[in-house]
Amino acid sequence: MDKQRVVLASGNKGKLVELQDALQRFDVTLIPQTQFGVESVEETGLSFVENAILKARHASKVTGLAALSDDSGLEVDALFGAPGIYSARFAGTDGDDEQNNLKLLAEMSAIPSEQRTARFHCVLVYLRHWQDPTPIICQGSWQGVIKTTLEGSGGFGYDPLFFVPSLNKSAAQLSKAEKNQMSHRGQAIKQLHSLFRL
Ligand code: IMP
Repeated sequence: MDKQRVVLASGNKGKLVELQDALQRFDVTLIPQTQFGVESVEETGLSFVENAILKARHASKVTGLAALSDDSGLEVDALFGAPGIYSARFAGTDGDDEQNNLKLLAEMSAIPSEQRTARFHCVLVYLRHWQDPTPIICQGSWQGVIKTTLEGSGGFGYDPLFFVPSLNKSAAQLSKAEKNQMSHRGQAIKQLHSLFRL
């Protein structure tokens, strides 16, 4: 039987790699919305859940397919939860990881090590169709510490600054499998796996 086609409501390459990798065992083919010419929708929500629903609904409406979205970000305690839902555009330009990391380093320059706690948060939303009244909503979070220097070349986004104490490495120094095993996105994917009904 053909695998069901599901549109991924994101243009973020880092997310696509992690989600495609982790969803291989599902009976679905995940196709990025860019392949259908779907433009990013304005993220007007004030929470990860609201923005994830907005993105999935938009992609599903335009393509006529079921949609999966990921809204995620980094919450830094010393910055009162910033950059939070604005993580992708912290330094101004959407998705400029390098500038976002430099801005985070600058804003944290005076913060002592014991106050550098942070967590990644991920919400995955699955809509069977754009008017689906019962979206599947899965969440995960991953606790860490913001480093004072960038380290590692894997992953994406804030990974080089996110120190994982239990492994004594930055998230950008983990293999794809290691990151998926413990990350915010990996945890949300595990929930999705147990809830998925196609
Ligand atoms: P979104 O595309 O609006 O959900 O923004 C997500 C942003 O959060 C990304 O652009 C990254 O800056 C950050 N982010 C989310 N997940 C991760 C991750 O796994 N590693 C590093 N940064 C992440």
